[in-house]
Amino acid sequence: MNKKHLVVGNWKMNPTSIEEARAVVAMSKKAAKNLKRTEVVICPPFAFLHLVKVDNKKIFAGVQNVFNQPAGSFTGEISPQMVRSLGGKYVIIGHSERRAMGETDELVSQKIIAALNAGLRPIVCIGEKTRNQSGEYLQFLRNQLSICLSLLKKKHFSEIIIAYEPVFAIGKSFAEAMQAREILETVLYIKKVLNDIFGKESASCACILYGGSVNWENAKAIIETGGVNGLLVGRESLNVETFPKLLTSVDAVSL
Ligand code: PEP
Repeated sequence: MNKKHLVVGNWKMNPTSIEEARAVVAMSKKAAKNLKRTEVVICPPFAFLHLVKVDNKKIFAGVQNVFNQPAGSFTGEISPQMVRSLGGKYVIIGHSERRAMGETDELVSQKIIAALNAGLRPIVCIGEKTRNQSGEYLQFLRNQLSICLSLLKKKHFSEIIIAYEPVFAIGKSFAEAMQAREILETVLYIKKVLNDIFGKESASCACILYGGSVNWENAKAIIETGGVNGLLVGRESLNVETFPKLLTSVDAVSL
């Protein structure tokens, strides 16, 4: 489990120019400088990773995907070893936008191991597409976790981060983010599944993030009462006006 709150910014395929990317990196670093209880990770597109020079322990670099092999004839792919050699520390794996392009739970499980072998910390995304009254989404989450973590050894459990991102809450209006109480219920269920797979000790120290339409106005409540250790933030992590406010509001929550 992280000793601090963890806020991970997923820039997705944005911005379109290096000048804009430099401005967002500068804003993020400035905003992270005075934080006491919060660690910030920014995950730009790979093309901009070199801009995130890690010069203090408040901000770290990550990427949004890696391949499941260290090197070889895989045109267009990027290996975890390459990311590590550029100073990257984290990698988002299994984001729903990648799953929509065909990434399976089995591939996610391989990527997790490949990332760990290279010394990266995987941020493993899970989340149901929809919910209904019958509660089928709980079984969906259990299956997703079981397959994605099927190759992970118990002794490596503390190196991974789970990002709970209900797909229906991603990229929506900020008012449509899941409410903190519903997040808490689901996080408790995720911990129960982790308990079943890895045992009580591992489950109790799991690092779990919430993602899906988080902004500076709802971030504090989610951290305070959502039972999570941090947030995976999409659009708001590129907003030079409001991302600093989000970080300050998270940092105000005692650990
Ligand atoms: C995401 O895609 O990981 C995400 C959380 O996006 P947004 O915050 O824009 O909903």
